[in-house]
This record gives sequence, structure tokens and C-alpha cells, in this order.
Amino acid sequence: MSQQKDKTPGPTQTSSAPSPPHFDTIVVGAGSAGAVIAARVSEDPNRTVCLIEAGPDYPLLNETPADLVNSHNNSYVDHDWHLDYEPTRGRVVPFPRGRVTGGSSAVNTTIALRGVPEDYDEWADSGCDGWQWDDVLPAFKRLERDLDFGNADYHGDAGPISIRRYPTAELLPQHQAFLATSTDLGYAQCADANDPDGWGAGPHPMNKLGRLRVSTAVGYLAPARVRPNLSIRADSHVRRLLIRNQRCYGLELESGGEVHTLTANTVVLSAGALMSPTILMRSGIGPRQQLAAHGIDVVLDAPGVGANLSDHPALAVAATVRDGSIIDTDSPLIQTILRYTAEGSNKRNDLQIEQISFANNRHGPGFVIACVLEYQYGRGELRLRSADPHDPPVVDNHFCEDTRDATRLTQCFRDTLAFTKTGALAEMIDQVTYPDPARAMSDDDIMARCRTHAGSGFHPCGTVRMGDSSDGAVVDSRGRCYGIDGLVVADASIMPSVPRANTNLTCIMIGEKIGEWLRTEPDSFL
Ligand SMILES: Cc1cc2nc3c(=O)[nH]c(=O)nc-3n(C[C@H](O)[C@H](O)[C@H](O)COP(=O)(O)OP(=O)(O)OC[C@H]3O[C@@H](n4cnc5c(N)ncnc54)[C@H](O)[C@@H]3O)c2cc1C
Repeated sequence: MSQQKDKTPGPTQTSSAPSPPHFDTIVVGAGSAGAVIAARVSEDPNRTVCLIEAGPDYPLLNETPADLVNSHNNSYVDHDWHLDYEPTRGRVVPFPRGRVTGGSSAVNTTIALRGVPEDYDEWADSGCDGWQWDDVLPAFKRLERDLDFGNADYHGDAGPISIRRYPTAELLPQHQAFLATSTDLGYAQCADANDPDGWGAGPHPMNKLGRLRVSTAVGYLAPARVRPNLSIRADSHVRRLLIRNQRCYGLELESGGEVHTLTANTVVLSAGALMSPTILMRSGIGPRQQLAAHGIDVVLDAPGVGANLSDHPALAVAATVRDGSIIDTDSPLIQTILRYTAEGSNKRNDLQIEQISFANNRHGPGFVIACVLEYQYGRGELRLRSADPHDPPVVDNHFCEDTRDATRLTQCFRDTLAFTKTGALAEMIDQVTYPDPARAMSDDDIMARCRTHAGSGFHPCGTVRMGDSSDGAVVDSRGRCYGIDGLVVADASIMPSVPRANTNLTCIMIGEKIGEWLRTEPDSFL
């Protein structure tokens, strides 16, 4: 047990009241970042760590439900929060988020892509010391076991998350056609999409082994859970943080129909970009007016909580195929990717096109090709719906309201349509069913469609932004909450901006970095 424990003020207690369980570190949320932090901090056998998760925990792989094991498709129902969002005002659609140990890494598509180095350099330039590319690369290397390029100097070969790419022989016909067509269209081929200098089309790096999804529950928690100093409390919904004299000393959770209190020297909030700001607001940390409107006592007026929502707006082109036998909904949902740069853009790899193996189509067996804006200028926001600890937040994305975003997603949509008219992929397609080929589409039409129909790439971040407090950031460059001692936020919510990549690996990297600091320099988090 660490020395610091005794210095931390606990909740008010009478001599007859039993003390609530106390830990050196409590981590809220066992997701991509939280599971990593709990695993890394508990490497020190002298530190007690409690990892709290609202969803269930499956300690044994052979007792883990198939939707979590099967990486060929996402799990949308059984281990989901059933949240929604407004991509454009007035239209409400589901916003999946994992609710289980492993968090969203346990339900996702297992695309294991890093942002480009410039993403992290931009973070550092915005006041996040210690997050430029050279600072984050060691953590990216530490987290992975790259089975294809492990000997490259920018890769790791011994980390908890196994990553591999489908070799050509394992690519489905539509993915082979996608790569052939991308060459016809003049795009480079890229064997390793995680090459920091790379661009072009190639196999996706994926954190899966065969069918097995290598989530943080599998990669990090499985080996760590035997430690006596790590307790994992699943099926425990955190209602709010406990704060006195501007110090967070614990939290209140619901479990088995009862409300419990736990205390800690340091509380780490890793509940994800939608739930971390929600828990902060319920605890009195957030925009004063909003808290007051819901009758919540203001502990800290923090206007940045819930602001700066950053994500990847996306659209898709849908088509039916000539040979329906290639459409198998039990096959891998995705295998390939194209990363490239919009015309005239100074943001490298700001666009992605992805072949999706299959999709529902009322016209017949078919697939979609997704076009995704990877560098987003615009920002959305998240607001509290009520003070009720079970009410989900209101999420308003404001996608493509910024013309720079709408213009580049429009280009990406046109580039995606070109795939349906070229080479092997065109030969495979029977008909394009969306957009309606009978309707002419000007750039203005497509831009309008971007504003009304772009959906989330499921990569929300930035809602508890890291940076300078003078600039409105909520946490400093180690995730420490400005104005509240003993409280750290560490997950997708602290990213100043969404990286030009799917976000799971970056969340794990955040867990690696902040977990390492918490383990080696615990006093700086009190
Ligand atoms: C369907 C889907 C597909 C995706 N595909 C990919 C992909 O292929 N590649 C990729 O890179 N990214 C993908 N993503 C995004 C990526 O998985 C997330 O960005 C990442 O997992 C977020 O990590 P996090 O630590 O911020 O939050 P999460 O991993 O979501 O973890 C938050 C955890 O906190 C828990 N929690 C929340 N509130 C409470 C509470 N009140 N009390 C207790 N616990 C709580 C949650 O249950 C959850 O376990 C996908 C996401 C989804 C949903």
C-alpha cells in the first residue's frame, strides 16, 4: 500500500459508520483506455487499484458471449449503451458504445490504425506537452505485437494487442477488386497503413487473431486480473464523483440495486467521450448555466466539459453485386483501406475510403463503400439531458456545418463513386442503389447531402479537452482536471482533436501513457 493513502481526506465519517472501501487508484470504465490504465498501474504490487465497469465482465474466454469474441462484425445490441445522437439537427440515430469490460474495444471492428504523426504534433502545439509524435510513438510500440512488421523501427513486436493484416490470399473478392481498382485510379499501394509516412490502399491492420477480437479485456485484463492488488467491479454504474474542498476523494456507484461509496487517493475517469463529460457534469463540474438548469450544485464552472466534440463524418455509396454468392454476412466486415489527401489540402491523409464486405440492401445482395472525413475542422457538443444518473446525454454533432469539412467529404464521395465505375470493382457491381443513379448530382447537391446525411464514424472524442486552461481546456497534459485535485480524465474525451485514424489504438496509447505516469509518479496525481 502506498504512503499517500493516509494523506487523502476521506468522506465524513462518524465513529460508528464503517469506512467505505479505499484504494490508491480507482479507474471508472474498463474500456480501451481504462482497462490499460488499471493493468499498468497494478503492475506495482504495492498499489491497490479498483476498476469499475457498468457492464458485465467475462473473466474466461470460453464463457465470453459470441458477439464479443467474433471480430468479423460489430456487437451493437447485447453489450451496448443504446445511446443516440443528432448528426444533423432534428435527425436522431443510434450511437453505439460498448458496455462491458473492454468497453468499445470489445464490440468494435478491430481496425488498428494510428493517426498520422502530424495529429499528435498538432496536439502538442495546442498545449499538450509530451504528446508529439516522438513522445507517443514509444507507447504505440509498447501496446502492439505487430505480426507483419514487428521488426520495423516504428513498430512493436511484444505488446498485449496482436495486430495483423489479411494477406492477399485471405482477401474476399470485393476487397481484391477494391485494391485493383484503386491502382487503376492511380492511388499508391500501401502494405502497412501504419507506416508513419505511408498513404494509399492496402490491407487494414487489425487487432484480431482469426475470429478473436483482441480487446483490451483480452490483451490487458486477462493477464492482470490474477493480481491481488487489482479488483474489478463489474455491473457497477457510477452515478457521480464525490468532491470536497475541490478534491475528488471517491465516487458513488449503483450495484445490485444498492448505492455504494468507494474512496481513493486518485480517481481516473475513463468512461469514454460520451460518458466521462456526463459523469463530470452530474458531479458539478461543467458549464455553470447548464448545471444550474438541472439543479446541480456547481463545484467547478468548466465551460469546456461537453464542448469540442470531434468525430469522423461519413457517407456511403451502396451497390448490389452480379454474383450474390460473394456476399456472406458471416465474413469479415472489412479488410482493406485507402488513406489519401484531398485536393488542395495541407492535411495529409485527411480522407479515407473503405470497402465494406456486405450491407443490407433491399434491391439484392450487395455492399457499401464508405467515404470518411478524417480531419475535421468543425465541432459538435454534448449536453446533459437531466441530473438523473441513468439519463443519456444529448449529443449534437454539427457534421459538415464547416464548409471545409463539407467540401472535402464531397470530394471523397465523388472519388468513391469513381470506384463503382472503374475496373474490377465496376465489373462486380450490378447497380449502384445509393445515390440514386437516375438523379444528377452537382457538388452542391452532394454538399447538401453531407450536411443532412453524414453519420458518425463512431469515433467521438474531445469532450473533456486536454491543453492549456487559459485556452478553455479541462485537463492538463497528464489528464489532471484543472481546479480539482485527485481527479484524472483519461480516454477519448481528452483528445484535442480526432486523429486521422480510427480511434481505438490512440485510446489505448492514452491509457499506456497516463497509466505509466500514474504508476511511476503517483504523487503528481494526488
Ligand atoms: C461499433 C463500434 C465500432 C468501432 N470500430 C472501431 C475500429 O474498428 N477501430 C477503431 O480504432 N475504433 C473503432 N471504434 C471506436 C473505438 O472503439 C473507441 O474510440 C474507443 O474504444 C474508445 O475508448 P474509450 O476508452 O474512450 O471508451 P470506451 O472503450 O467506450 O470505454 C468506456 C467504458 O466506460 C464504461 N462506463 C461508461 N459510463 C460508466 C459509468 N457511469 N459507470 C461505470 N462504467 C461506465 C463503459 O461501459 C465502457 O466500458 C468503434 C466503436 C464502436 C462503438
